[in-house]
Amino acid sequence: MLMYLEAVAKIRSLAKPFSVETVPLTSAINRILADPALADRDYPPFNRSAMDGIAIRIADWHKGIREFCVRETVYAGTAAEFTLAEGECYRIMTGAACPPTADSVIRNEDVSYLGDQRARVESKDVVHKQHIAQQGEDLAKGDLALSAPRRCDASVIGTLAALGVRDVSVYANPSVAIVTTGNEVVDIDQQPDCFQIRNSNQYLLRSLCAQWQLPVALCQHVRDDRTALLKALREALAHHIVIVNGGVSAGDADYVPRVLEELGVATLFQKVLIKPGKPALVGTAANGNFVFALPGNPLSCLVTFKLFVEEYLWYCYGFRHTRLKKAKLLNHRSKKTSVDEFFPVFRETHADGYTWRPHHGSGDITAAIGGDGIGWHAQNKRESSANEETAVLPLP
Ligand code: AMP
Ligand code: MG
Repeated sequence: MLMYLEAVAKIRSLAKPFSVETVPLTSAINRILADPALADRDYPPFNRSAMDGIAIRIADWHKGIREFCVRETVYAGTAAEFTLAEGECYRIMTGAACPPTADSVIRNEDVSYLGDQRARVESKDVVHKQHIAQQGEDLAKGDLALSAPRRCDASVIGTLAALGVRDVSVYANPSVAIVTTGNEVVDIDQQPDCFQIRNSNQYLLRSLCAQWQLPVALCQHVRDDRTALLKALREALAHHIVIVNGGVSAGDADYVPRVLEELGVATLFQKVLIKPGKPALVGTAANGNFVFALPGNPLSCLVTFKLFVEEYLWYCYGFRHTRLKKAKLLNHRSKKTSVDEFFPVFRETHADGYTWRPHHGSGDITAAIGGDGIGWHAQNKRESSANEETAVLPLP
């Protein structure tokens, strides 16, 4: 049986980057940027006044000149017509290009105007180049503005717009099929009888996919019936990612491994030395599509999605650094097993770290409520003392 990191390495070894497509900037929010973006010119493109005020020559200030003759008013988007002579200034607006003969801006709050023509500086100090954003100080032409891959959040979209990128190269989203299984599992619109439970994992999995902006193309529930499962999974295998839930353990009615085999799915691994989620099975279809068969307990389903489905997505979206964040586990934790254990952790604002809380096992539908991440208690140590460093997979 594989250990967690071995299972992850298996997934990586067969994962291929998603294809790249071009979308309009207006549709790129939350997509994964595939190509880096370079600065097409200097940013700022000109010496830009950061204040409404006057622009002077610092040499005049050093000579003791405090009252200036207004030569011209420079607005954002227009060029100055005149150059400055000694004792002259421009009135200048925020966002305007500071003309070459001026080199320092004094904000209106520090100036008193005597009619339209004269401006008196009231502040004690003026520093050379003050309130002027220098051309190229953010980015020089040709600089790397945005590395890829990265998620296109609002700031990234804003920067791409500033760079004039109208069409954005992003990774194509894979299509996902979800198949839940189990005779005891009923739709949430149905009143369960006393031995039935609602299909909560369908909603959990849909939500996890939504957090990755993945369109769920097919979502089906099937009873523990070989023929029904065969039909549902054959249909599901047309999609890039197939997530099967339940029916993957060792019970008599757990048909998923057998049916996947019948459909020609090659097993990458079946069963992993982890808790929860040990029965997880990952395989690939002949066309390269990935199948993730995740155990049915809600916490096992969540944890194995985080560990394996997300690892696959991360890799196919081009990310090569680890998703795991080093963090402190603030409270002591001991374990009886010799496998990697995973559990919801809660960020503590008063301290720089996370705590874990006891729950009633992987069937506990409340275990992950309010969780900020999934903590990892490594297989090789029984005790994790207070404040020990651990690794956390952030939620969402
Ligand atoms: P299984 O992995 O099919 O052996 O199921 C393990 C446990 O998870 C059982 O208690 C199931 O009732 C429960 N379970 C299976 N599928 C779901 C589901 N879709 N939603 C919620 N719980 C489920
Ligand atoms: Mg079942």
